[in-house]
Amino acid sequence: MVEGVERGYRYRFYPTPAQTDLLVRTFGCVRLVYNLGLQARRDAWQQRQETLGYGATSSLLTGWKQAAEFAFLNEVSCVPLQQALRHLDTAYTRFFTGEARYPRFKSKKKSRRSAEFTGSAFTYRDGELRLAKLMDAPLDVVWSRPLPDGAVPKTVTVSQDPAGRWFVSLKVTRPAATAPATAKMVGIDAGLNRLLTLSDGEPVGNPRQERRERAALARAQRELARKEKGSRNREKARVRNHRLARAISDASWRMFRTLLEYKAEEAGRTLIPVPRWYPSTRLCSVCGIRAEKMSLSVREWTCTGCGTRHDRDVNAARNILAAGLAVTACGADVRPQRGTSSRAGSRR
Ligand SMILES: [Zn+2]
Repeated sequence: MVEGVERGYRYRFYPTPAQTDLLVRTFGCVRLVYNLGLQARRDAWQQRQETLGYGATSSLLTGWKQAAEFAFLNEVSCVPLQQALRHLDTAYTRFFTGEARYPRFKSKKKSRRSAEFTGSAFTYRDGELRLAKLMDAPLDVVWSRPLPDGAVPKTVTVSQDPAGRWFVSLKVTRPAATAPATAKMVGIDAGLNRLLTLSDGEPVGNPRQERRERAALARAQRELARKEKGSRNREKARVRNHRLARAISDASWRMFRTLLEYKAEEAGRTLIPVPRWYPSTRLCSVCGIRAEKMSLSVREWTCTGCGTRHDRDVNAARNILAAGLAVTACGADVRPQRGTSSRAGSRR
């Protein structure tokens, strides 16, 4: 069973003058500690060819806090300062793996004003959020959407955008598998005619919305055709038309696919994608004989092998379910890949 799903929740909040004062000072300390850590790591390498990790910089932080010139570091919560050194460590890791450039110093003007509170540096109880050194009063958060029941915030990031607005971002782990365990499975065929067809014969989709989308596409195509009319670019127009249609259907498919993955993960279900070139339409789901290629207008067909009368989409969905089960049975890598996006088998 999936242990938990991590999600971010972002809210605006309105700090009191005292909270504003401390948080602004915290941002400054976070930036300073990040820059001191970066300087120390650079010096260690340039002068001694030594690599400092998070642990070493964290020990240095203890020293900086004892120095008279940095005494103000003791006035803010220590946790965001340690987190700054962790973020610096992550920046180095991303540099070493080639994902990012060498870490740069954070400038007062350009760098993001934020501070991350973890563990004991905040409390969240009865819908009230309090930060370390500011425990006397909860933050005045606008809970624009509720946190899920049983949600436990893991980290709280306070930030202020260039316009001066304040935000808290809560990283929340919520229990997954909200639906009871089941051995039920379903194949899903995503088609042009209906949005979806399930292998148990149930069509899913909103015909009115589909009509609207098709009408919008037709309008865009007419508009393109009108623009190209009279020019020698008719062939170009035809190609563009085709690309436009494909772009629209790809975009809505991606959106649907993302939503399906999200929902499956939340419910603790397994989603198995099946390659888009899998001939699910032409295979007879009863006897396995492959039929001739059929045009999109053919909605029903009869198998020449076993005589079964098929609904085109239901038959395809049944084949997809079988293909999905074959993939799990042989333990192949079933993570979604580029180009395997048009069909999915789902265990629910
Ligand atoms: Zn057949």
